[in-house]
Amino acid sequence: MKQIGFLGLGIMGSRMSKRLLDAGFEITVWNRTPGKAQDLVRAGAKEAKTPKEASSNKDAVLTMLADPHSVLQTVLGQNGIIEGLSKGSLLIDFTTVDPATPQKINDALKTKGVRFLESPVTGSKPAAESGELVLMVGGDPQVLEEANPILKPLSKKIVHMGPVSSGARMKLVNNLIIAGSMQALFEGLTLGKKGGLNHEAMLEVLTSSALSSFLLKMKGIAVMDRDFNPNFSVKHMAKDIHLAMEEAHHQCLSLSQLATNHALYEAAMAQVGNEDFSALIKVTEKVSGTEN
Ligand code: NAP
Repeated sequence: MKQIGFLGLGIMGSRMSKRLLDAGFEITVWNRTPGKAQDLVRAGAKEAKTPKEASSNKDAVLTMLADPHSVLQTVLGQNGIIEGLSKGSLLIDFTTVDPATPQKINDALKTKGVRFLESPVTGSKPAAESGELVLMVGGDPQVLEEANPILKPLSKKIVHMGPVSSGARMKLVNNLIIAGSMQALFEGLTLGKKGGLNHEAMLEVLTSSALSSFLLKMKGIAVMDRDFNPNFSVKHMAKDIHLAMEEAHHQCLSLSQLATNHALYEAAMAQVGNEDFSALIKVTEKVSGTEN
């Protein structure tokens, strides 16, 4: 597997495609908005004009797009990936989507003899850059084994979750927990600040306690520095919480913390949609009347 198409050059996709280029693959890239491929082209990638062109004569095609709609449109739409892929090739989608989306794609690709893996990721901009993502893969384990040389340069851990759609389900579980635990951090920091506690001292305690995690430290520092430049934007977390709500509904589950976060993220979209999700601190401050 040498010839690769990579579609979606946002925060994550631009870094993941660069890693594959550096690992020696021949990469053709495509992005909806032109201009984002410039650095990759300078580094040796080719640029395609359509998803179909990016997928023609490729051993594997990889997508890191925004949401279910963008994936379905780019794969199955006019001049889409499905028109370029040939029998025996492989599509891997890394986007965070609902469980129904990979199922639809798998069904459509089967009729063409194209293999498919869904592989949502955890780990943000720094992990995409350093190849330390964690992949939660749904699909045929033998196909996963064949895809290993492509996935290895991107990841520090690959977990096979089960059949197609189980990766998407796991990713929603992961982000439900992240949104809830980070909201608890934002509320705790807001309470402490109102009581006169020093932010740095609060972080020193939290990052030395049993609660400590890489994410808690990263988001705690972002809040202290008021740096809301997106690593993982509010709009994508809002999308994931919305998809997790739909999945809970589908499973006839009522989950109270998820419902609270859903309402919070809906409100946050208008205020800080394009900022990093640590900007939820601003929403929390506004709601609690502790804005600066
Ligand atoms: P991003 O920077 O917003 O990039 C999104 C990409 O999707 C861009 O290339 C965008 O193209 C493309 N896109 C959006 N709508 C499209 C459409 N209708 N048709 C074709 N292309 C479309 O997002 P990201 O942070 O890289 O995240 C990508 C995915 O990974 C999301 O599903 C996110 O939830 C997930 N994820 C992100 C992180 C993170 O920390 N950032 C971590 C884990 C998982 P344009 O340039 O034209 O807008």
